Amino acid sequence: MQPLYFSYPKLGRFAIKRFILFLILALCFSGIAPFAHAQRTPGVLFINVGDADAALIMTETQNFLVDTGRKKTAPQVLAALERMGVAKLDGVFLTHSHSDHVGGLKEIAQSIPIDTAYCAAIGEQNKKGEMKTPEAIRKAGLEPVLLQAGDQVQAGDALFEVIGPLREDMNDDNDNSLVLRLRMQGASFLLAGDMQFVGEQVLLNAGTDLKADILKVGNHGNRDATSPAFARAVSPLLAVISADTTADDNSAHPQVMKTLAPAQILVTQQAKVGILVQAQEGQLSYTLLQE
Ligand SMILES: [Zn+2]
Repeated sequence: MQPLYFSYPKLGRFAIKRFILFLILALCFSGIAPFAHAQRTPGVLFINVGDADAALIMTETQNFLVDTGRKKTAPQVLAALERMGVAKLDGVFLTHSHSDHVGGLKEIAQSIPIDTAYCAAIGEQNKKGEMKTPEAIRKAGLEPVLLQAGDQVQAGDALFEVIGPLREDMNDDNDNSLVLRLRMQGASFLLAGDMQFVGEQVLLNAGTDLKADILKVGNHGNRDATSPAFARAVSPLLAVISADTTADDNSAHPQVMKTLAPAQILVTQQAKVGILVQAQEGQLSYTLLQE
């Protein structure tokens, strides 16, 4: 796996061609993003939202968020969308009810159009017996679409497969996390929400195929998630942890890093904007977006 490198064009036979390519890349990776909708490389941007969680999925023609960060990190999410030339979201998936995942939804929905908001059909309820995640979606002015394991959401050339949750956990909404596998450009991404050992074991017991090239590590890399059996079942080449260890020193835990080896492990705090993972014809690359 190689990071993307951009260098100034050298003089030579292909100098002009290279220079034009450089200009296109420079524009695409600047705030201008002139070809964002017409011609772009699909990818997933794991946005730096501190100790929260938000990932922007960009297919050839559509844009999705999986989780929205906290209310206070909505500006970071909106800046990242603008940075990537995203002016509209085809869908937002909310993995579960906790504020580090749904907290930014209302602010984001007030700033940019969202076609559809998805969440799991099971999850924690409030005192009135209403499910908390659909309630948060309604409060943001959207109508929730409930998903269950086995459902699929087609997104142009990409596909979201709903893998979990398989059953409700009454103790911790983390284990009710909507677990998605995204298939895009010949690569697969397992997006584990905040699933912990309990939810992982339910999937393993059910014999669910969990294999993926890239794992968005469950529960910010805390050591109550990512069991050795789960890590073996996924066997990722690249693992991305959404965490800020200065805010939560249990996140990106050394034990989890050890369990995930030999995968390459990245933590969103390494990049100011976020970590952009791309796949082209099965070839993976990543960029740490610092501005
Ligand atoms: Zn979380």
